[in-house]
Amino acid sequence: MKICASIVEDSTEKVLASMNRAAGWADLLEIRLDHLEKPDLAALLNDPPRPVIVTNRLESEGGKFRGTESDRLAILEKALQFKPAMMDLELSAGERVIGEFTRKKDGTRLIISFHDFKGTPDLSVLEDLLKRIKDVRGDLAKIVTRVGTAEDLLRLKSLLDKAAAIEQPLAAFGMGRLGRFSRVLAPIWGSVLSYAAIGAGKEAAPGQMTGFEMRRLFKKSENLVEIRGQAKLFGVLGSPVGHSLSPVIHNSAFKHLDLDCFYVPVDIDEADLAADCVRALDFQGLSVTRPHKVAIMAGLDEIEAPAEALGAVNTVTRRDGKYIGSNTDWLGLIRTLEEQTTLQGKSVLLAGAGGAARAAVYGLVKAGADVTVTNRTPEKGRKLSSEFNVGFCPQEELKSADAEILINATPLGMASMTDLTPFPAELLKSNLIVMDMVYTPSETRLLREARRAGCRVVGGLSMLLNQAAFQFQAWTALPAPLDVMRAAAERALEEENDIS
Ligand code: NAP
Repeated sequence: MKICASIVEDSTEKVLASMNRAAGWADLLEIRLDHLEKPDLAALLNDPPRPVIVTNRLESEGGKFRGTESDRLAILEKALQFKPAMMDLELSAGERVIGEFTRKKDGTRLIISFHDFKGTPDLSVLEDLLKRIKDVRGDLAKIVTRVGTAEDLLRLKSLLDKAAAIEQPLAAFGMGRLGRFSRVLAPIWGSVLSYAAIGAGKEAAPGQMTGFEMRRLFKKSENLVEIRGQAKLFGVLGSPVGHSLSPVIHNSAFKHLDLDCFYVPVDIDEADLAADCVRALDFQGLSVTRPHKVAIMAGLDEIEAPAEALGAVNTVTRRDGKYIGSNTDWLGLIRTLEEQTTLQGKSVLLAGAGGAARAAVYGLVKAGADVTVTNRTPEKGRKLSSEFNVGFCPQEELKSADAEILINATPLGMASMTDLTPFPAELLKSNLIVMDMVYTPSETRLLREARRAGCRVVGGLSMLLNQAAFQFQAWTALPAPLDVMRAAAERALEEENDIS
């Protein structure tokens, strides 16, 4: 599978700058001439930093070209003189036009494309389109349809199977509600080309992943499993999940143990639709994150007792044909703390009253710790503490609180809140263990201040990895290669820092 950067800019200079930037990660560069008022073809095509696909898309095919059809074709003919690696012609241009371009192309490979903005036609119609493209001798077929149901996805999969059977190279994926998800699945199903945006906000089509996301999922060495068409599917279900570290973590483990499994982001915001897709595509396991941890429960066959008690599922495992919900957040937290100390009888002060705090209180109580909750909104904090029969400390009394372990289970310290911390510096005594569930940045203000005060500090990545290890074990019945997973996650975080 090759990754093509879709470059949509409104001036030749901007296209050239984007081509140079994308050349660092893309196999091919698609220049969308329809976004340019007066493209300087010589400047764009004479010496590109990567092989180029030239596209001049009509409005009716989802592009921006507003002139006549003969104007559009004239621009493409001119571009052909520069011998670009590939040129995209719509099937709707007609056999005569495609025939003329085929005669003139002189080394350029023709992509013959078809878009359906309303839906995904029946498989027989799709197969007929593929045959028509093969008949006009398209070097590569591109079929893009609107996908809104699990059945639509399965039709795209069958179409890709058919293309492989008749040896017609095909790029096929979707747009619409399941467009983003289909772009993740298509390469696994044999789509030969994936289009990626050069950055967030620069998408050439809705649902397009960025080059960074695409590369991280499919091309980084730790993920570069031979994805065999029959690989068992796993994923992280949530919305958004483009930045989730879980694909890197789990794929590194699958690769290390040479398991024929692949883990993808399942970026679907409707829980019912997500559950449909998971069953239709026979997913073997899922990590579940926002906003689905509660909503997913209705679609499962069984829920294990701790997840039931927590009212939240973060793990789904397919076992004996059933989808079973469980929760590894609390297990991950407890293992992380137990790597530092025993919890029985220890006093723990925990900031937060959301889902992560709930999982933590559940686990800490089970481990025999003496827990006190504090929270910005006191009512929510009190509710959590009374539900688990633990203490509550109003925020204004924090300075005089006493605890052996402090835990941050709020987003304070994360990206837009890096200067915030849930605990006043006066609380940080050298004998404390201080844990932050936040893992980006790896050293939050809380951890920085705690380290300076001589406390033992624990970052959120350890909890993330430990809960992932429990998931991995539930799915594969194998011990998770935690060191491999940690190294992959740390590398991915470093890379993220490098590009931000
Ligand atoms: P959540 O359900 O949205 O809970 C957020 C909690 O943080 C609430 O108690 C909320 O207080 C508090 N909060 C939010 N913004 C605040 C602010 N500006 N000032 C003070 N308090 C604030 O989120 P969650 O799912 O529990 O997750 C909490 C954090 O843990 C997130 O950063 C998440 O990434 C992290 N986490 C990490 C792991 C891991 O494996 N490392 C696992 C799960 C979660 P109110 O009640 O007043 O709104």
